[in-house]
Amino acid sequence: ASNIAQTKAAAQQAAGWKGTRTDGGETKHYIGGEWVEVGESGAEKWFDVKDPSTQQVLTRVPQPPRSLLTQTVDKAQEAFESWKLTSLLSRQGILLKYQALIRKHHDDLAQSIVLEQGKTFADAKGDVLRGLQVVDSMCALPQMLTGDKLEVSTDMDTYVRRSPLGVGAAICPFNFPAMIPLWTLPIAIGTGNTLLIKPSERDPGAAAMLVELATMAGVPSGVVSLVHGGPETVNFLCDDPRIKAISFVGSDVAGKHIWDRAGKNGKRVQANLGAKNHAILMPDANKEQALNAIAGAAFGAAGQRCMALSVLVTVGDSKEWVQELITRAKGLKVGNGFDEGIDLGPVISPAAKEKIEGLIASCEEEGGKILLDGRGHKVDGYPEGNWVGPTVLEAKEGMKCHETEIFGPVLTVLHAETLQEAIELVNRNMYGNGSSIFTNSGATARVFERTIQAGQIGINVPIPVPLPMFSWSGNKGSVLGGHSLYGKLGVEFWTQNQTVTSLWKQEDALNTRADVSMPTMR
Ligand code: NAD
Repeated sequence: ASNIAQTKAAAQQAAGWKGTRTDGGETKHYIGGEWVEVGESGAEKWFDVKDPSTQQVLTRVPQPPRSLLTQTVDKAQEAFESWKLTSLLSRQGILLKYQALIRKHHDDLAQSIVLEQGKTFADAKGDVLRGLQVVDSMCALPQMLTGDKLEVSTDMDTYVRRSPLGVGAAICPFNFPAMIPLWTLPIAIGTGNTLLIKPSERDPGAAAMLVELATMAGVPSGVVSLVHGGPETVNFLCDDPRIKAISFVGSDVAGKHIWDRAGKNGKRVQANLGAKNHAILMPDANKEQALNAIAGAAFGAAGQRCMALSVLVTVGDSKEWVQELITRAKGLKVGNGFDEGIDLGPVISPAAKEKIEGLIASCEEEGGKILLDGRGHKVDGYPEGNWVGPTVLEAKEGMKCHETEIFGPVLTVLHAETLQEAIELVNRNMYGNGSSIFTNSGATARVFERTIQAGQIGINVPIPVPLPMFSWSGNKGSVLGGHSLYGKLGVEFWTQNQTVTSLWKQEDALNTRADVSMPTMR
């Protein structure tokens, strides 16, 4: 009953927002400062956004016609011409207002995420907070953009201008509906670009609210736009020559496609893909701390985090602790993210549930053991939800359940006899987003840190995502190319260097004779 009350409250709240719907109506585009409906005649097809706990249709996302996308880029290009001339301090002022507005509407944003994506309310608040922290960090853009200058000769200076690129696009996944748009929005516009956000067609609500809040903060028309749809929209963004940069976060298939297509068209692309994050559990670890951390990171958000700990490598005697880990997993409560005491919500769709259940089955088919089986999980009052309970598999390296990104609440356990063996096993995996070790030995931690190939390394920390004073540092198959998200490297992605060499000869003030020989340093 508490859920129904919450859902109604969310629907009422959403009614006040211009771009979000919870009544089954159309999700609007935001183009040149206007909220636009495509309508039945305009949409090439529709994507239903369903509450993953109930299958109730909350909103319908249209695949817009190309003409609408062209028009959006027209407006974004037009807006760029004036936005790039605004002062950095005026853009900082807008970011400061934006920061306050996101903080004020933190709960509204989180509610939209629970409704459409399914994670728990507390976790959804974390989703918003992690994005807000990128806005916080970008309020310091003036400090971050101070540049290089050198007097290269007596009367000659060379200095670097950090210029915006033009119109950019952010193509976002379903799993962090607020955080991931915010990995781009404040940086792209703070540095003077204009931006099209293409949220996931599975949960566009939070992105729409973030765009609306940007307008309330004073972002002018056309500087931030919201476009919807699936691969057709993505292909348009990859092809339109006026779009100079694409920030992508999502699956391998889409990421590789975007990398190739946008790259061939000469665009700057950052592409962050899938993952399979391993934790190594040493027998000298603080058992309680380690097991709590591993259970939280494996099953939290129903395992739908790109930094979820999906593989545990026990070393030596720590394999004896797996039973206690299972006890913890069994204690986690699955249910609707609005309800009290829930630890993990549903997975995003019936198709995702089916895929996860298939990968669980494959463990047994390939000779592994299902130590805890979350298939067929039921939740009272929600017969239609996409439920998968916490699952623990005992497997061998190279089995499907070990190699494939499951993206569900499933922990695959492997065993190694030594630290060396465990590190080699982790390093053989194609992905490299993150890896953690649990140990009480500084020496062991140091060996791990120096030899592990993952880009984000945790020592007694299960999900070592760097806060935005640093940059995202996924590695190996989890990323294409060398462009990182947020932090200093994110600012680099959204700016291009122009070097200016200027000559103001002091002697010109006194002498008018021309210099005809090749210039030499003086
Ligand atoms: P997804 O690739 O299905 O969707 C991401 C975006 O790409 C969406 O906007 C979607 O419309 C578009 N898209 C999907 N298929 C496409 C195609 N064939 N052609 C063109 N565009 C396409 O990803 P998802 O399921 O929404 O998100 C989960 C994935 O994202 C997981 O693999 C997860 O590991 C990854 N992820 C990675 C990071 C990271 O930082 N590396 C962070 C979060 C999520």
